[in-house]
Amino acid sequence: MPYEVVVDPDKCEGCEECVEVCPVDVYEIQNGKSVPVNAEECLGCESCVEVCDQEAITVTEI
Ligand code: SF4
Ligand code: SF4
Repeated sequence: MPYEVVVDPDKCEGCEECVEVCPVDVYEIQNGKSVPVNAEECLGCESCVEVCDQEAITVTEI
């Protein structure tokens, strides 16, 4: 099942928590912000959503 993964760059502080927690390496830090470079691998587990203190991430089933 595909998911849309969006990071709001205005909220992201580049803490890398989402990079660490994602089991399928969806995220990469680019210029101090997390970017979902590998969203097609997303499993929809929402671990990244839960770990992000800034509430910068949305994961939506598409
Ligand atoms: S956990 Fe949130 S604030 Fe931290 S890098 Fe990821 S999106 Fe940015
Ligand atoms: S929902 Fe899970 S698999 Fe998808 S980006 Fe977040 S941590 Fe990775």
